[in-house]
Amino acid sequence: MAETTTKTHDVTVAQRQLVLSWAGVTDVGRRREANQDAFFAEYPLFIVADGMGGHAGGEIASRSTVHHLSALVAEEKVQREAIEAALEAAVRDIADHPEATDEGTGTTLTGVFLEFDENGPHWVTLNIGDSRVYLLRDERLVQVTTDHSVVQELIAAGKISPEEAEGHPYSNVITRAVGASELTAPDYVTLDIRAGDRFVICSDGLTKELTDYGIQHFLREHAEPAAAVDAMLVAALENGGRDNVTVVVVQVEDDSSSTSGPPAE
Ligand code: CA
Repeated sequence: MAETTTKTHDVTVAQRQLVLSWAGVTDVGRRREANQDAFFAEYPLFIVADGMGGHAGGEIASRSTVHHLSALVAEEKVQREAIEAALEAAVRDIADHPEATDEGTGTTLTGVFLEFDENGPHWVTLNIGDSRVYLLRDERLVQVTTDHSVVQELIAAGKISPEEAEGHPYSNVITRAVGASELTAPDYVTLDIRAGDRFVICSDGLTKELTDYGIQHFLREHAEPAAAVDAMLVAALENGGRDNVTVVVVQVEDDSSSTSGPPAE
């Protein structure tokens, strides 16, 4: 397993100095031959993509999507319009690639970014498909994104219970994707930034092996993002590693070095 490191970046929110720290890891798992997941974690964009499709199609779809979005960080253009334009470029790549033209080739995309407007920075989650963003705030873990999956639609319609969703024959079928033949804008959720926030961004290879309780447990046990993602990956592999596993943790803390005096401008 490659060594995971925690990176940090300062951010000022309502004249308060905060520090973001994050780490991410991806692994092929125990059963699959290729890793079709991809992730990117650099301030201010943190994303996970889970590719699907035969041959190399899934890898092309997830890598191309992550590549086009990551370019926005260098260009300092992490905004909704630019994200949607980058997704259109990814779709063109997927459609142009001979390995990626099969029906069903595509990728999920989920994550969180900092959006800056006249009120200062805030979080925005984005989601297409069934990869997830969780937020641990006030000791409670909440799934912020809503899955675009057949099973989620059945739950929403009251046809099956969340318990019945587990192991459902359609549990892998998603209703929205970034793919050669389709693209819809991501769902966005806007959230304020609070010290103590801890986000978990992951592919379904993690949530097939770890319950919400398990995710919370490893966050509580490991204050450091790199240690938390490594512990979750190890647990997912121990529990079977049936799919590719990707997990990114992003967290916010008070900058303890600047608690005295007003923040420097
Ligand atoms: Ca997967």
